[in-house]
Amino acid sequence: MRIAQVSAELAPFAKTGGLGDVCAALPRYLVAAGHDVRPFLPLYGNLRAGRDRMVPVGYAQDVPVRLGPRTFTFSLFTTELPGTSVPVYFVRCPALYDRAATYTADPDEHLRFAFLTVAAIESCQRMGFSPDVFHAHDWHAALLPLYLNTLYAWDRARFGGTRTVLTIHNVGYQGTVSARAVDDLGLAPHRSLLHRDELARGRLSFLLHGILYANALTTVSRTHALEMLSPEHGMGMDPYLRARAKDFVGIVNGIDTAIWSPATDPHLAARYDADDLAGKAACKRALLEGLGLPYAASAPVIGVVSRLTGQKGLDLLEGVLPDLLAAADVRFVALGSGDARLEAFFADLARRFPSKAGFTRGYDEPLAHRIEAGADLFLMPSRYEPCGLNQMYSLRYGTPPVVRRTGGLADTVVPFDRRTGEGTGFVFEHATAAGVAWGLKEALTTWLDRPAWARLVRNGMAQDWSWETQIRHYLALYARLHG
Ligand code: ADP
Repeated sequence: MRIAQVSAELAPFAKTGGLGDVCAALPRYLVAAGHDVRPFLPLYGNLRAGRDRMVPVGYAQDVPVRLGPRTFTFSLFTTELPGTSVPVYFVRCPALYDRAATYTADPDEHLRFAFLTVAAIESCQRMGFSPDVFHAHDWHAALLPLYLNTLYAWDRARFGGTRTVLTIHNVGYQGTVSARAVDDLGLAPHRSLLHRDELARGRLSFLLHGILYANALTTVSRTHALEMLSPEHGMGMDPYLRARAKDFVGIVNGIDTAIWSPATDPHLAARYDADDLAGKAACKRALLEGLGLPYAASAPVIGVVSRLTGQKGLDLLEGVLPDLLAAADVRFVALGSGDARLEAFFADLARRFPSKAGFTRGYDEPLAHRIEAGADLFLMPSRYEPCGLNQMYSLRYGTPPVVRRTGGLADTVVPFDRRTGEGTGFVFEHATAAGVAWGLKEALTTWLDRPAWARLVRNGMAQDWSWETQIRHYLALYARLHG
């Protein structure tokens, strides 16, 4: 299949979150499966990595493109995704992308990404590339289906067989601009295709128009797809998503097993696998010693690696951890930064319980690996979690997750049943301190039942949430669009 992709991020070139990882993984694994994939990205002024290796694409240099009243000129550059043979295409347009940051609060922010989308279409034309699937990510690229149906409707020879997919990684960001932008976006002649009520309210949302016009819609887990149909999680998009429910699926993100595998992880004090967990005990000891906490094989270590924001539900721990640490021989190890109040809470916990709790403030990739391996339990009490990666890492590292039943956490963690020995973790229902306390109590009770615990750990390590597996769901979706 021929697949074109448009996104605002693609790791390692541009990344502020999970969007960048997914938009790098998809092309990588699609190409590995034998497909022809062309991802497009702006050549940002602050672009990391690869700038010196980029080469101009001959037939797409100094291309003037009219968008509404303005003409922007772009040139296309390319280089390979590091360590792969995947070509990544960069749209160079200094007037729009030479800024200090990937995202800006500048008044032309919407034009930056609308133009990226148009430049990707123009580039396909110049490269003679007819995509079977044009895959857009998040609001930045969400006008793609509409542009193909309007400004480029004339080019049936090139795009007549093209189907569009919009993946929504975060429905909270919708690219909503004033209705006055319709002219700038080149959509004035196509007003009849824009959402009338929105225009009447004086605004235009990129994401909404992607939801209206893409052939298929996806988000990053099955449960989150269902959640987004409700007002609580739909952020105003729920009525439109409900209207398109039959074209809307959730596909859980994969994990990169080249980076996240306890058998090969270079950050760990020792390596291990499901057949021999001796290395995991060494990792636990090394983790605790590194943080100045005493090791005891019998004392379980509860780990947290997270952005410290309200979404992650870590404030609920204020009502749970002080009592738990006072009463039980457990350890608590947290890594993260964000909310000042949460940082203060964790720092205070480490002060009050110097032999039981440790907190590392900041972003520290090696330590994140060491916590996944050295902890006995991994805690994610998220209020909402479109997909979540850490719970999948922790399954693989033999560190059963304790999670709230929401989004991707609900898709990937199966409650452990001690009678049957089935399940991979502990799943609680409510985003309350009582919910977290219940989940931890279940986990700590199971911890004491050593055969049950061994079974639980094995079950989790046997799970496969790798991209190798998850990419098949995207391929099946692409195939259905041409079925
Ligand atoms: P989100 O994208 O909402 O932050 P995910 O669970 O999907 O949550 O992904 C978070 C990723 O960021 C994981 O790979 C996790 O290990 C990493 N991470 C988060 N906080 C830190 C930190 N303080 N130090 C190192 N890695 C972190």
